[in-house]
Amino acid sequence: MLNQDAYALGAAPSAIREVFEYGRRQAKLLGEDKVFDFSLGNPSIPAPDAVNEAIHTILKTESSIRVHGYTSGAGSDELRTAVAENLRRRFGTPARPEQIFITCGAAPALTSVLEAVSAPGSEVIAIAPFFPEYRPFTNFSGSHFVPVMADRESFQPDTDALAKAINAHTQAVIINSPNNPSGAVFREDVLKDIAALLRERAREYGHPIYIISDEPYRELVYDGQKVPFLPNLYEDTVVCYSWSKSLSLPGERIGYVYVPGAATDSRELFLAVAGSARMHGHVCAPSLIQRAVAQCIDSLPDLSAYDENRKLLYEGLTESGYSCVRPDGAFYLFVRTPGEDNDRFSRRAMEKNLLVVPSEPFGVSGFFRLGYCVAKETIERALPVFRELIR
Ligand code: PLP
Repeated sequence: MLNQDAYALGAAPSAIREVFEYGRRQAKLLGEDKVFDFSLGNPSIPAPDAVNEAIHTILKTESSIRVHGYTSGAGSDELRTAVAENLRRRFGTPARPEQIFITCGAAPALTSVLEAVSAPGSEVIAIAPFFPEYRPFTNFSGSHFVPVMADRESFQPDTDALAKAINAHTQAVIINSPNNPSGAVFREDVLKDIAALLRERAREYGHPIYIISDEPYRELVYDGQKVPFLPNLYEDTVVCYSWSKSLSLPGERIGYVYVPGAATDSRELFLAVAGSARMHGHVCAPSLIQRAVAQCIDSLPDLSAYDENRKLLYEGLTESGYSCVRPDGAFYLFVRTPGEDNDRFSRRAMEKNLLVVPSEPFGVSGFFRLGYCVAKETIERALPVFRELIR
């Protein structure tokens, strides 16, 4: 007898992947320039030159045995030290290398942390709209997944709704800012209100309620926006970070968990994260990319192409009559579906080879997500099609 939950998850099509695969088939049939694929969050700007140069230099100058060998499970000393120093310098947080666990991206960082904080009957809250994988990650970690809707106009977390959802079983709240799919950057005053609420409830229930801060888009912000660093606002924060988007390295699988020393049971929590990773077969993150990232720790992406796309798409769509919140971060636009019938709209869009992701997997209905990590020409060619669709 197979594990039926695992089977069901493996057999269930991912809405985003399905749209993407359809786009690939259409592109083969009709040509790339006839398909407008806004379905995926695959970075469209190249990794900084420094990363590729570091990889070349490492391969040319270092011992192959060392470069391709295992590092320790928690990551190479070199990268853990570089991350801790980077966090100290940028955010003033007293990070130390032994509080950093290097993972194969944000996804396994999240599964390890979720499992580390999960207890029988526990609940984990996520602010909707949310990254769809939070649901299976949480359910498989043994906690119950509880979505709490953000404000539908601004996509800022709704503290009153959160207060109603938190109870004695709540172990953690996942915060993702800049947000996938809304592009919202959560405001500092809202995050401070959440911190105060969690502190009060943790005291009342006699156990910590952790914030799991999922930050793959931390560096992707526009117009000088600042992303508050959550451990500085709330002591029981655990950070899940990834270089997938910030250095355009999603296929290299590299990220980390940071368990600040101020978090309740910090050392035990760190060891539980390491134990969960081990249970899922984590041995170490790929060694070559650990080395390269350690050398490029201060590299930042050139966001001008995303920013240009963001303005072009946002302005083009709002001028045509669509409504959406102007995104301050990440590379997504979350657009209200005209007529609110998502199925009908995305089917009509698909017939015109315009590929969007309906919002249901993100825990909200009546919207669709566009990933503007695409060539500028794709947006220019797609805007007239969007206009036709709203008529
Ligand atoms: N969290 C969010 C909000 C994401 O959007 C993604 C990927 O798109 C991930 C986590 C997973 O990132 P990674 O590729 O680093 O595993």
